[in-house]
Amino acid sequence: MKVKLALAPRMGRQVVVEEVELDEPGPYDVRIKVMTCTICHSDIHALTGEHGEYEGPGAAGHEIAGIVDAVGDKVTYVKPGDRVLCSEVRQGCGHCDQCLHDRPWFCTTIQPMSFRVPSAYTRSNGERVIQTCSGASGFSTYTNAYENMLVKLDDDIPFEIGSALACGFMSGFGAVLNRCKIKPGESFAVTGCGGVGLSAIMGAKLSGAVPIIAIDTQQVKLDAAVKFGATHTVNPKEVNVVEAVKEITKGFGVDHSVVAVAGKGLKRSTFDLTAGYGQMVIIGHGHPRDEGMGELNYMEVLAGKRVTGSVMGAVTLRRDIPKYMEMYRHGQIDINSLLTNTFPLEQIQEALDDSERGALKNIVTANGYVPVYNKK
Ligand SMILES: [Zn+2]
Ligand SMILES: [Zn+2]
Repeated sequence: MKVKLALAPRMGRQVVVEEVELDEPGPYDVRIKVMTCTICHSDIHALTGEHGEYEGPGAAGHEIAGIVDAVGDKVTYVKPGDRVLCSEVRQGCGHCDQCLHDRPWFCTTIQPMSFRVPSAYTRSNGERVIQTCSGASGFSTYTNAYENMLVKLDDDIPFEIGSALACGFMSGFGAVLNRCKIKPGESFAVTGCGGVGLSAIMGAKLSGAVPIIAIDTQQVKLDAAVKFGATHTVNPKEVNVVEAVKEITKGFGVDHSVVAVAGKGLKRSTFDLTAGYGQMVIIGHGHPRDEGMGELNYMEVLAGKRVTGSVMGAVTLRRDIPKYMEMYRHGQIDINSLLTNTFPLEQIQEALDDSERGALKNIVTANGYVPVYNKK
């Protein structure tokens, strides 16, 4: 069927909204009538080729919420009319050895994610559009998604909240809950206070961390970090970040650190401000050439210091998202304050540019949807 899709005619951040043909859903596919797609910085990284180069027109948008419009004949989880969110990460099969050991990421039957693959969209000139960052393209009026990417959205959870839960939030919050596993009173620092970093701060606060140290070069993000629960802020443009964090932590460094942004040298500086017995969790990444940690000497980890990573918050989709909806419902997590500006699909370029300038999380709406969350 004919739908509208935002696409970058060639690799880059310039997009146009075009009428394209969307394939009928395959046996395990669900066609979603998109209501909202919030912007994640990964969308921009993916469109510009930082996550891997691609040829031809590219589409993005992976924090999707909407209404099931049609289903393939093998789909059992949802039916037309169901409200859903669609994530980039997939629910594992639930039956294989890896899934049974709580590692759906390594599921042996369902691929966790797919990037830079042909999409279900064809342009009027016959070109097949590339899906740059997910198995679905939310900057559209309709998208096909694999059934295992979906989580049912409770009736009282607005679509825009469902969108925000689908990637950025869980990447930060999930990393803290599933990887850091903070005990009350342990110290925490996060490098990068965009949507992911602020979600990590929410996780640290909920876990009882103290102090919670927010590190960013933009004052506006540090101010936001305080609102979400940071007890201290450090601006690397003004002070030596490692010295500043050590001063706050009696010279030891933090028990737990998270890197929630891409960038040269940030893994190293965060590792250095982590205590000799602490753990650093890496979430944010850009081009692999910028993500080195310099030379790592064994002596630096001798006392038990650990480095690990987290993709999409190490979540199990249909176990964790329902918990997050419940936490939102009871005010334990503040997704409303993560949301920034709203743009209809036709103004997607403006929305992307605004995100690039530092807006926390912009909402792109489709099919006439108007967000209903309480903007603070
Ligand atoms: Zn994302
Ligand atoms: Zn499995």
